[in-house]
Amino acid sequence: MGSARPTVQDTLLRVATDARLRRAAENRTMSHEIVRRYVAGESISSAMDVAQWLAARGRAVSVTHLVAEPQDLPGVEKRAKRVRKLIRRLTDAGLTDDGAADVSVRLSTFGAGLGGQGRTGARDRLRELTELGAEHGITLTLEVEDAISPDVTVEAFHELRADHPTLGISLPACLRRTEADAHDLAGTGARVRLTKGAAAAREEGHFTRRSEVDKAYVRAIQPLIEGAGRVVVATHDERLIHLSETLAAHVGRPRTSMEFQLRYGVRTEKQAEIADRGDTMRIYVPFGEDWYPYLARRVADSPREILELMRATAF
Ligand SMILES: Cc1cc2nc3c(=O)[nH]c(=O)nc-3n(C[C@H](O)[C@H](O)[C@H](O)COP(=O)(O)OP(=O)(O)OC[C@H]3O[C@@H](n4cnc5c(N)ncnc54)[C@H](O)[C@@H]3O)c2cc1C
Repeated sequence: MGSARPTVQDTLLRVATDARLRRAAENRTMSHEIVRRYVAGESISSAMDVAQWLAARGRAVSVTHLVAEPQDLPGVEKRAKRVRKLIRRLTDAGLTDDGAADVSVRLSTFGAGLGGQGRTGARDRLRELTELGAEHGITLTLEVEDAISPDVTVEAFHELRADHPTLGISLPACLRRTEADAHDLAGTGARVRLTKGAAAAREEGHFTRRSEVDKAYVRAIQPLIEGAGRVVVATHDERLIHLSETLAAHVGRPRTSMEFQLRYGVRTEKQAEIADRGDTMRIYVPFGEDWYPYLARRVADSPREILELMRATAF
């Protein structure tokens, strides 16, 4: 088991999610530079502006809607409608060739946490949206998340992927089971995105020490790189990016069968370097009304930013 002591990152996250700071930040709208640095905006149009700006510079995108979990079925339908509209807008913008656009989604957004028929309904919505995306050359990536048991997400992925091979999955290395999932998925040809994940201290089933998570990342990326599917290296960690490239070269994996994914606004110089040398550089582009928790996490990932967030909110 990991350390029971809160990490510096946990403490920073507590500061960043302080309710007064959140209110102040939200009241300041999205205009401040620190918000704009990490979040495209609240509307689909703002996400499209960023996606098209990135596409013009040779980057692929994975767009995600930041929204609170729905409390009822009308809320679920509203969220599914937003993703449908996003797929249509990406299509209209012509981001349909060579995997130019992907949409990252979570089962909880489609009502998997509502109980009753929630889980089945969430799978049905994901199926419908994956089909819609596939018709237009846009892929979906299902994220393993904290709100829903990983068993539920991974099982739904296996079930849906049988008929919808364009669907990908995002696994967090901090989850102890991910290494086994990576081995299971490696031979299937599935597209797998591997992140470090964001576990708070004391979470069951997770590695919590940074060094443990880094080692777990290496153990999970290896079978994926040796495997048959597209590999998405989603980390800002220079050492892990380099290690993944070295492993890929060692096993003779074609560069076109893997890609790198970094967050909008994070390590932009690395994003340019990867894109300029001709590898697929996909940028994770978040938008939506519920942007504050996302911003708080980005700030906690980069301690220098906490002062800037406080300055921005005149706290
Ligand atoms: C594209 C993408 C998608 C992700 N999706 C998920 C998900 O769905 N679920 C989940 O749980 N986790 C996800 N993660 C992981 C998540 O972002 C975590 O916050 C994780 O703690 C950070 O991992 P890291 O790769 O940045 O490595 P870290 O070890 O945290 O950072 C590595 C280095 O990156 C640089 N860096 C990191 N953040 C910043 C910043 N804000 N500003 C400047 N430099 C920075 C620093 O130099 C740092 O030393 C995702 C990560 C990426 C890249």
